[in-house]
Amino acid sequence: MSFFPRLRRGALVFLALALAACAATPPPSGAGATAERREPVTILVSIDGFRADYLDRGLTPNLNALAARGARAAMRPSFPTKTFPNHYTLVTGLRPDRHGVVDNNMEDPRKPGVLFKISNAEAINPFWWDAAEPLWITAERQGIRTGTSLWPGAEAPWGTTRPASWIRYDEHITSRQRVDTVLDWIRRPAANRPRFVTLYLETVDTAGHDFGPEGRETNEAVREVDGEIGYLVAQLQAMRQPANLVVVSDHGMEATAPERVVRIDRLVDAAAIHVVSDGPFMTLAAAPGHEAQVEAKLLGRRDHFQCWRKGELPARFAYGRNPRILPIFCLADHGWLLYARDLKPPFDLGNHGYDNEDPDMRALFVAAGPGVAKAGTLPLFDNVDVYPFVARLIGVAPRASDGDAATLQPLLRQGSGGAR
Ligand code: AMP
Ligand code: ZN
Ligand code: ZN
Repeated sequence: MSFFPRLRRGALVFLALALAACAATPPPSGAGATAERREPVTILVSIDGFRADYLDRGLTPNLNALAARGARAAMRPSFPTKTFPNHYTLVTGLRPDRHGVVDNNMEDPRKPGVLFKISNAEAINPFWWDAAEPLWITAERQGIRTGTSLWPGAEAPWGTTRPASWIRYDEHITSRQRVDTVLDWIRRPAANRPRFVTLYLETVDTAGHDFGPEGRETNEAVREVDGEIGYLVAQLQAMRQPANLVVVSDHGMEATAPERVVRIDRLVDAAAIHVVSDGPFMTLAAAPGHEAQVEAKLLGRRDHFQCWRKGELPARFAYGRNPRILPIFCLADHGWLLYARDLKPPFDLGNHGYDNEDPDMRALFVAAGPGVAKAGTLPLFDNVDVYPFVARLIGVAPRASDGDAATLQPLLRQGSGGAR
């Protein structure tokens, strides 16, 4: 029996042809009903605290699929292996000593008594960010529209320039909302659509701190964030939006334990030191008149840590000249922590901030898209090299940086993804 008993043969042929035409025509994208050929967008995604080897836990089918289409690598983060310094390195190509965001906690001799913390109002004050122009500003200045669904530094205006679209950081904005924000921007008509977007996801870092890099909850966060990447890719495909995805992290994660804490205040009088950061490293200044005593107690190799005067840190850290760095820098050994105060429970089972050569500090790099060649697994490289690569991917002339454009040059597929 026919499904169309009341239709005559001629009408059936017409219907069949119309259905075939529908199948061959892409669904409408954006507001118009006619299909539009969309220019590629480049999305720089940061999964905070995603250690490079999490990619091999069998939890990340979407990231692994991207890597199979393009490339993957373990990345050496810049020193110190903290969130704000490394995020600013990724979008400036400069090491923290040069871009000025030298730590998550900072003081500046030009602003006596003021502390920059990632959780206080100073974090969005341009004063702390203006030594280096981030990629979204360079892009806007070169006529390329940008959007930042979060990124450290993206809320600080650059003179009168900002990303065309941006949002205020709030930890309560879920990963899905952050992804949907990006998708909404990309759904706009071409004239208002960003060509370069950043997206920042933090749940893997939070779980890594709370439960450690081997924690079940950390694996859950890894699985969940991979699902968000899958959702992003699927939604982009549904709107026929070609996209270069560059998925990175800022640093890895190392297991910590209450038995591996050095109490610096038992080695020197707490009143003799002014501490700005503690944990995997400690930054401090001796109180006036206590310099010799503090240096004698701390400088050099000690049990489970090492301290240097700021100008005497190993050259490979490329760190120590910036005026925001305190006079003494102490670095804990693998998995150890330095504190000069009592810790409030619960104790964090994971942390980062260790030597950037430590394999547990290694960060994620995955890239795929029309502008990215299929290149398999690349050798370890420095995260300063991401900047010239992403700049070329979006067609922006990069500023001078510490990055080597040659490192990821073979990954750029000329002429197909906006690469120039
Ligand atoms: P860390 O202490 O280095 O692990 O920093 C990671 C934390 O930085 C995240 O868990 C967030 O709470 C916070 N964070 C990330 N981006 C921002 C931002 N743009 N503004 C304020 N805090 C942020
Ligand atoms: Zn981080
Ligand atoms: Zn962290």
